[in-house]
Amino acid sequence: MTLITNHLPTAELQALDAAHHMHPFTTGAELAAKGARVITRARGVWLTDSEGQEILDAMAGLWCVNVGYGRKDLAAVAARQIEELTYYNTFFQTTHVPAIALAAKLAELAPGDLNHVFFAGSGSEANDTNIRMVRHYWAMKGKPEKTVIISRKNGYHGSTMGGASLGGMAGMHAQGGLPIPGIVHIDQPHWYAEGGDMTPEDFGLARARQLEEKILELGEDKVAAFIGEPIQGAGGVIVPPATYWPEIQRICDKYQILLIADEVITGFGRTGNWFGSQTVGIRPHIMTIAKGLSSGYVPIGGSIVCDEVAEVIGSGEFNHGYTYSGHPVAAAVALANLQILQDEKIVDHVRDVAHPYLAEKWQALTDHPLVGEAQLVGLMGSVALTPDKARRTAFAEPGAVGYRCRERCFANNLVMRHVGDRMIISPPLVIRPEDIDVLIARARKSLDETYTALK
Ligand code: PLP
Repeated sequence: MTLITNHLPTAELQALDAAHHMHPFTTGAELAAKGARVITRARGVWLTDSEGQEILDAMAGLWCVNVGYGRKDLAAVAARQIEELTYYNTFFQTTHVPAIALAAKLAELAPGDLNHVFFAGSGSEANDTNIRMVRHYWAMKGKPEKTVIISRKNGYHGSTMGGASLGGMAGMHAQGGLPIPGIVHIDQPHWYAEGGDMTPEDFGLARARQLEEKILELGEDKVAAFIGEPIQGAGGVIVPPATYWPEIQRICDKYQILLIADEVITGFGRTGNWFGSQTVGIRPHIMTIAKGLSSGYVPIGGSIVCDEVAEVIGSGEFNHGYTYSGHPVAAAVALANLQILQDEKIVDHVRDVAHPYLAEKWQALTDHPLVGEAQLVGLMGSVALTPDKARRTAFAEPGAVGYRCRERCFANNLVMRHVGDRMIISPPLVIRPEDIDVLIARARKSLDETYTALK
């Protein structure tokens, strides 16, 4: 067999890829028709493909490369840890220094009494842990009937059976018999698409009160937890009205429902604070973390858990864990990544570069005939494409214009993702003003080309 390296021609790599590699969220027909773009290296916010094109990655991979690509210091930490202790587990009363140090660091960074960490390999796994942990918590408290978890339509919590069930993605529920029992969904706080004539404030309150209605419908004694992303990411970077989260917090407090903040995207600086919960002003009992925890350099996720829940879970044996829970190499790299975020003041940089530099340019995109709304919190943003700005209407074929715009972005060497007809960004947190200028110029060009093609 031919040795497969970067030196093979792109077409050959693409043919092998289409023949043998099953891709997430991609159709076989798409791969067969034009092949996948082959990314060969990356530095900072820039990717290089197999044709030598330089591409600005305004998505930080999948919202994860917070410190930017290609840091040699993180590579050195991984190499050192592989030599020193390649692997050991954290089951059956054993531990190791990287897991201890990372858990202690997370306890220091996380707000309130979120002082305990259960490690997983990804965000999906961590959310599966959360399902089992909150149900077990209530069982240990003598309330085994408190099992239902309330989540939101168009939320995203991962791709495993548990994660995808917590998520409210219709396309995912249509495959594989989801959601699993005991998970119910209320409507999302997406004012632009679903707010009608209501003010954003009234709409935010109304959507939050659906949680109270659902708790009363099911019975307080049946509900274990509510889970939500502080700002919906994969649903289209949907920033809820300011009234939404305070009302959710009030309802969780009133009915003693555990609050799980899925911080897989919003954690580790993305919103201009260490955690999105701080940005929206909530006090979760559990936070799901992954992605920015290691800046995507190695796979790792986890749940940061408050004192009370950890104490109850720890009072017996929690029959749950993954071979790679607290993997020493992943933990060592994650710890070094957190140190970089802290030492280089990258969370402060997010606030400095987002407001007003990016925010003004992003908001200015609403002067484009296709753009009905622009939202930005820290370094996650969206623009809504619409055929009628005044009425906020949707296109006749939802997602087709967004898809075309994403293709134009890609052709213009800019990675921006589309969710239906929302175009979204979540660049590496180290993005500089001069990169932002390139991002905006290429986004505008791509919007122009999309608009011209519609006429
Ligand atoms: N939760 C949220 C909010 C996410 O955005 C994601 C991934 O995008 C996940 C969970 C799942 O994480 P992973 O893909 O690491 O399993």
